[in-house]
Amino acid sequence: EKISAGLKKTRDSLMGRLEDLAAGFTKVDEDFFDELEETLIMGDVGANVTMRIMDELRDRVRHAGITEPTEVIGQLREIITGLMGEESPLDLSTKPSVVLVIGVNGVGKTTTIGKMAAYLRGEGKQVLLAAADTFRAAAAEQLAVWADRAGAELIRHEEGSDPASVVFDAIHAGKSRGADVIICDTAGRLHNKKNLMDELSKIARVISRELPDAAVEVLLVLDATTGQNAISQARSFQEAAGITGIVLTKLDGTAKGGAVIGIREELGVPVKFIGVGEGIDDLRPFVPAEFAAALFE
Ligand code: GDP
Repeated sequence: EKISAGLKKTRDSLMGRLEDLAAGFTKVDEDFFDELEETLIMGDVGANVTMRIMDELRDRVRHAGITEPTEVIGQLREIITGLMGEESPLDLSTKPSVVLVIGVNGVGKTTTIGKMAAYLRGEGKQVLLAAADTFRAAAAEQLAVWADRAGAELIRHEEGSDPASVVFDAIHAGKSRGADVIICDTAGRLHNKKNLMDELSKIARVISRELPDAAVEVLLVLDATTGQNAISQARSFQEAAGITGIVLTKLDGTAKGGAVIGIREELGVPVKFIGVGEGIDDLRPFVPAEFAAALFE
């Protein structure tokens, strides 16, 4: 399976080490707990979340009187699975519904939109893409290629035009053409944060004015290869935009996938999709139990 193959590096770096650790200890003592903690931190799980996991693990071990290191790893698996919560699918309950996709350049935003369009097309939905990253001409070009591949429609304006007006047009086109989902690309330049955030709130205002009752998802795309830095990046976006979910890209080829474990806990929003490759089929709904199984297999 693609998810399992994609997670190989993370599995080796995190679970591989935990198993080696369990094999190297004969009893469950403070040294063992210290090494476990260290391994989670090295596996990009994040300091806060690691603390939470370790507290709960110690509690469980104490209460159940566990003395076998391998049994402790079993408990750890349960705790990690629980932390990631339930699957959280996109809310597409209105026609049209809107998915606003945000994130800094290079994280895989455009690719994710293309893959998501294909995924939704596969579910029989009419998809319309709005090229509201008008800052880079190449962005609209790239989106046009993906729209073609995915069988989605595209609304684009000239380079440098007002992103909110692209979204406005996309909403009206979407309504008249009977689109089920309108997915909006946005600019991701971070060097001018105030500008970017103003632009996002202007787009959000257009959406709520033109489609006051629509289901709206605001998805932040994060690059898994940046590990814990992705979490800090998410915090600065969260201050400005009401994020409803995370898409974590490039989980294939990184050993830092442990960052997924703490996202819901740290950011208070679920991971909705993961990217496990560059191809059109390489976006998967995030199913925590499936992810945990691939991680611990
Ligand atoms: P944007 O600037 O955020 O729109 O980023 P792009 O969509 O242009 O993607 C940047 C690069 O990341 C491209 O080379 C993509 O093929 C690659 N990419 C995107 N998602 C994934 C993924 O899940 N896995 C891998 N391996 N590469 C990805």
